[in-house]
Amino acid sequence: MTVTLKKVALRREDGPPMGTPAPCYLVCPCGRKVAICDARAQPVNRNDAGEHVCECGQAFDSRGWLQPDEFKPMRSIRVTWDDGDTTTTTINGTRADIIAYYVGNYFNVGAGELDAMKQGKRVEFLD
Ligand SMILES: [Zn+2]
Repeated sequence: MTVTLKKVALRREDGPPMGTPAPCYLVCPCGRKVAICDARAQPVNRNDAGEHVCECGQAFDSRGWLQPDEFKPMRSIRVTWDDGDTTTTTINGTRADIIAYYVGNYFNVGAGELDAMKQGKRVEFLD
């Protein structure tokens, strides 16, 4: 089993003077901002497991570590495409690798002679 740990720097929102509390966030590998704490240093945007989850599906702990990132076979996932359609499938990999594979990339999800190129926007992990 390979476990890849990656950390993303926490950043402080511009505005409040240094030395005073400010909301913090990080920038997900997908490019989106993910809110981590509010101006009173209280965690925000957390799921039931205590993770901060980006719109793309990547999750982080409150110190910016990507969570969890173990390779697992036959993960059950749901991909949301740029037109709002979804595809449920299984795939092997780490959470970060699977998100990097789908989010921002184009796939032909058409059937038969009907090509349908769609861009991945979000991955949800169903298991
Ligand atoms: Zn993201």
